[in-house]
Amino acid sequence: MTVTASPVPILKDNYAWLLRDSDTGATAIVDPADPQPIIEAIEKAGGRLDMILLTHHHADHTAGTDEVRARFNCPVVGAAADRNRLPRLDQTVTEGDTVRLGNATAQVIDTPGHTRGQINFFFPDGDILLSGDTLFSLGCGRLSEGSPEEMYASLRKLAALPADTLVCCGHEYTESNARFALAVDPDNAALHAFVAKVEQLRSAGQPSVPSVLEDELKANPFLLAPDVASFTALRARKDRF
Ligand code: ZN
Ligand code: FE
Repeated sequence: MTVTASPVPILKDNYAWLLRDSDTGATAIVDPADPQPIIEAIEKAGGRLDMILLTHHHADHTAGTDEVRARFNCPVVGAAADRNRLPRLDQTVTEGDTVRLGNATAQVIDTPGHTRGQINFFFPDGDILLSGDTLFSLGCGRLSEGSPEEMYASLRKLAALPADTLVCCGHEYTESNARFALAVDPDNAALHAFVAKVEQLRSAGQPSVPSVLEDELKANPFLLAPDVASFTALRARKDRF
């Protein structure tokens, strides 16, 4: 049994993720901010939706939630910590909790930094990580609420997941992240190889994600930061880049 994840491009540069448990056909959508393309993607995949997962409260991740819920009549799962600023939740979760999708189980990981109540979901079946706006391909989320210490600790948790984890993030930011990564780490051969692959995908009109955690660990400057102080300096530099 395994879980598969496909990106659904929405809004300007967001991705919602359509998840499917191969055993049962159970289906979930992550961060359904734009209802129309999401409902279309679900219909195209068989018209079944068992669950909505939310990574954080920002409108570009949540805005379509109530409409998608009304269409498929399925439960919405989100962070207990942010229950007051998320759409109406049917299941509130926090670090260590699990969420079932068919025969598969997701682990909930608290990843404060971009927002205080940010959570990520990890499916060991399929090694699928829904990294929201915490970990991007070749980048990480802005510290809109959390401290550098929190974000650094959150990224270290994600870095400890299995090497073949597929990083399913919330935005197509990879090319602009790549420009920054190359500026701060110009001699990194793994980064150059990573960027070449990204350019190939993007020029073919394909999403650059998901990426593989093992590749991120060798190329993503925010995962390569050796300590909080260097992470803090790097994040500040990216904000000015
Ligand atoms: Zn956000
Ligand atoms: Fe976002």
